[in-house]
Amino acid sequence: MIYLDHNATTPLSGEVLEAMMPYFKQSFGNASSFYEPARTARAALEKARGTIAAAIGASPEEIVFTGSGTESDNLALRGVCRAFQGKDLHIITSPVEHHAVLKTCEDLQGTGVRITQVPVDNSGCVDPADVAGNITPDTVIITIMCANNETGVIQPIQAISEIARGKGIIFHTDAVQAFGKMPVHVDELGVDLMTISAHKIYGPKGVGALYIRKGTNISPIITGGSQERARRAGTENIPAIAGFAKAVEMAVEHLDEAGRHMTVLRDTFENQIMERIDNVTINGQGAPRIPNTSSMSFASIDGESILLHLDLLGVCASTGSACATGSPEPSHVLTAMGLSHVEAQGTIRFSLGKDTTLQDIDRLCEVMPGIVSRLRRISSI
Ligand SMILES: *Cc1c(COP(=O)(O)O)cnc(C)c1O
Repeated sequence: MIYLDHNATTPLSGEVLEAMMPYFKQSFGNASSFYEPARTARAALEKARGTIAAAIGASPEEIVFTGSGTESDNLALRGVCRAFQGKDLHIITSPVEHHAVLKTCEDLQGTGVRITQVPVDNSGCVDPADVAGNITPDTVIITIMCANNETGVIQPIQAISEIARGKGIIFHTDAVQAFGKMPVHVDELGVDLMTISAHKIYGPKGVGALYIRKGTNISPIITGGSQERARRAGTENIPAIAGFAKAVEMAVEHLDEAGRHMTVLRDTFENQIMERIDNVTINGQGAPRIPNTSSMSFASIDGESILLHLDLLGVCASTGSACATGSPEPSHVLTAMGLSHVEAQGTIRFSLGKDTTLQDIDRLCEVMPGIVSRLRRISSI
């Protein structure tokens, strides 16, 4: 099997599984209790918090563990709106956000919050001047993702955060795809809130975190116990959190090396495909990108048919975001970048991982031209 869908999820690393095991078995205690297995669990929780905080340049008390990247995005947006409730509220965002942000904004719009989506250019980038130009006295939060899950395009986060800071507006970034693939330091980026998730960096599914800069006005959205300094109630998932911390530790340690490796493979892949197949475009190629993602549009064919052929050959890729798969709607990311519905439907996302090999890429480049030409011969598009 050749797995090229790392932006959907990654395999759990062996070291991560090992780091999780003790907290399923001997140290199973509830971190809030007062006896030995619980103390060990609490110690693991606080150690993990320290590891993750250090990795992004934060303090441990600025990290809140959640049940997913999606929940972190919800906490950021709903939590800030709740903290300011009773006022007229306005959010600035972009049309290329992950559904976790996009749909949450739509939902908040239903409760009376005004939403502005600033446009992106053909390469998928937001212009910071558009963010500045849309700020109103009611703007309560700006949320712009760090790196896009479909194209890998990196947004000008520093420039946007400077604008937000100048106006005293809370700035959130969804860094789920950026984290582990480029340096993400909360002070360098200038963010107040930042979402990360474990399963995109070889950690377990079902655990994420939200960085909350000290002093940020935000309310909890899950109430009950006083876990996570009363910012997210619910018994902590210690095995997953310990695994998350191990995954972060390894991602930080191998950041440069993995980045170089994936850049070489991605560039080789893109060059070979462009050489061997006509009428292909690489989305976001002109913009800064994380090193593992390649979004390719093949003219006159349907991406789903390519995926079926690849699946038969043991190659796993996707047409875009995992959440949108199976829906007939073309990708909102690609249409926002100016692609037609047909062009968007002919797009495949290949997302490489740290363990992807040159052999994997060579094999893919061998089979792709045949698949594309066969499909184009029978295509009615
Ligand atoms: C995967 C992803 C999410 C959601 O994270 P989960 O932990 O799967 O809920 C949010 N944003 C981006 C950019 C993602 O790629």
